[in-house]
Amino acid sequence: MYKLRGHHLFCLLGYRGMGYSKEYVENMTKLHQTLRSSPKTLIQLVKGSDQLCEKFPNSGQYHCQDENIYRRDAAILEKMGLEIGQILEWEDIETRVRNHVIPSDIQIVCKTCSWRSYGVCEEGIQDILEGKGLREVK
Ligand code: SF4
Repeated sequence: MYKLRGHHLFCLLGYRGMGYSKEYVENMTKLHQTLRSSPKTLIQLVKGSDQLCEKFPNSGQYHCQDENIYRRDAAILEKMGLEIGQILEWEDIETRVRNHVIPSDIQIVCKTCSWRSYGVCEEGIQDILEGKGLREVK
């Protein structure tokens, strides 16, 4: 079972192998591949730092405890009708995205994220809406 905070549910949809460091990317790619190949993998929703934050490099500005990131987590969980502490399968999270999220939501909930302008997170949501699941990351 993996522990994930709210906004990382969206980050995983748009993940294309970019990240803050080699170690961060390796960790995220591994998780992404697991979810892609085993959509029944269990996810526990947590408050604050999770298994992706653990690999955030010491060198960069550590934003994982910023108030606005907590607000983003909360907004994303609320949008999907999810709560901290809940345990569910990754494919159920994809279903929630399909039922409650549209690509342009990224512009609102992730307003301050530096990755937003790449457009990949909106694409990731669109893929889910079209029933495609997570894209392969090579
Ligand atoms: S815009 Fe940033 S926070 Fe939002 S899903 Fe993409 S990478 Fe994650």
